Amino acid sequence: MEKKPFVTKEQLDKIIEQFPTPFHLYDEKGIKENALKLKKAFSWNKGYREYFAVKATPNPFILKILQDLGCGTDCSSKTELYMSEKLGFKGTDIMFSSNDTPAEEFAYAKKLGAIINLDDFTHIDFLEKVCGIPERICCRYNPGGKFTISTKIMDSPGDAKYGFTKEQLIEGFKILKQKGVKEFGIHAFLASNTVTNEYYPTLARELFNTAVELKEKTGADIKFINLSGGVGIPYTPDAEPNDIEIIGEGVHKVYDEILVPNGMGDVAIFTELGRFMLGPYGHLVTTAIHEKHIYKEYIGVDACACNLMRPAMYGAYHHITVMGKENEPCDHKYDITGSLCENNDKFAVDRMLPKIDMGDVLVIHDTGAHGFSMGYNYNGKLWSAEVLLKEDGTPMLIRRAETIKDYLATFDFTDFFKED
Ligand SMILES: *Cc1c(COP(=O)(O)O)cnc(C)c1O
Repeated sequence: MEKKPFVTKEQLDKIIEQFPTPFHLYDEKGIKENALKLKKAFSWNKGYREYFAVKATPNPFILKILQDLGCGTDCSSKTELYMSEKLGFKGTDIMFSSNDTPAEEFAYAKKLGAIINLDDFTHIDFLEKVCGIPERICCRYNPGGKFTISTKIMDSPGDAKYGFTKEQLIEGFKILKQKGVKEFGIHAFLASNTVTNEYYPTLARELFNTAVELKEKTGADIKFINLSGGVGIPYTPDAEPNDIEIIGEGVHKVYDEILVPNGMGDVAIFTELGRFMLGPYGHLVTTAIHEKHIYKEYIGVDACACNLMRPAMYGAYHHITVMGKENEPCDHKYDITGSLCENNDKFAVDRMLPKIDMGDVLVIHDTGAHGFSMGYNYNGKLWSAEVLLKEDGTPMLIRRAETIKDYLATFDFTDFFKED
């Protein structure tokens, strides 16, 4: 499918007059429409709820948009819990799906009344010592081995650090019951960025069967099943996007087949999507500032891997549009680079694009999730601004760019950088 930016060149030129590049731009309209589609796809389930994975796009303005549409938050750290609390997410609006969890984070989550999703059997004791066991709890399942969808290996849970084994889950539920837990949930995250409508239904089958077994063997009252994240997006133009309606119906079918006949037709389905909720609705907007002709052709832009780590870290493909040249032939082969002293600081390698001139604005696609949030400060690079393109077409600053003063703020106990 052809990838088109969600802004026009005219719109973007105006935005850039107000906010210099580089910055991350988000599409409010796209975010809302997609979130409503998700909600509709699971509307067959009475207790359905999406807990947005905050780590994907930890911006309060984005979280507020999703909150207004009924989403909760899925937090992985104390900071994310704090943000959720301040934004008015309360009690069971918050899922705490952490791992290797520090004591104070468990205590904070318990104080907020968040749903604690235990990552490990030994965390039962740990949690009890730290703050006591709540009446409602979730446990994360790791079935081990390989996770396959019709013989295709999707991922290797057996090599992943997360979750309880099946035996630990059964034993853990028994212990938790004795310790006073009344409401149980189970969770699993078995493959990331899946671009197939089969992932959730396949995962659901595994979790639903496990839920039935847990109910039979432990008598636990299972109230919800959390399918977690992992529904992906098509980063490349040739990939077929997921159809959330088909995915929702696929889970519905398995629900009716496994849970309903086992007297579990009131179990709520939860999701913790991040990438699917925001990925396509973010662009990294950057300007070409240098061209270099050596053994290869390079275009240097004013963004770098600190603004978007995925290409450098995973070799991930992010589509690039040269604004205003959408209809020109892609007859130039470029490496598109940032300015880090790291040769992997490239947004694209050997990419065929239209001829790029200095000052051209480039849109790097699908940066709405795990984009800004994976940023860092290497080489003293500062975090960019984040801008929301509102439904009415106007831009709004939702995070200002970092300054040198911000960068040096943790030295405020010294005089080195004091301004006179
Ligand atoms: C990262 C994460 C998510 C979100 O994953 P996506 O791939 O962005 O959907 C959900 N749940 C947990 C526990 C995670 O670690």
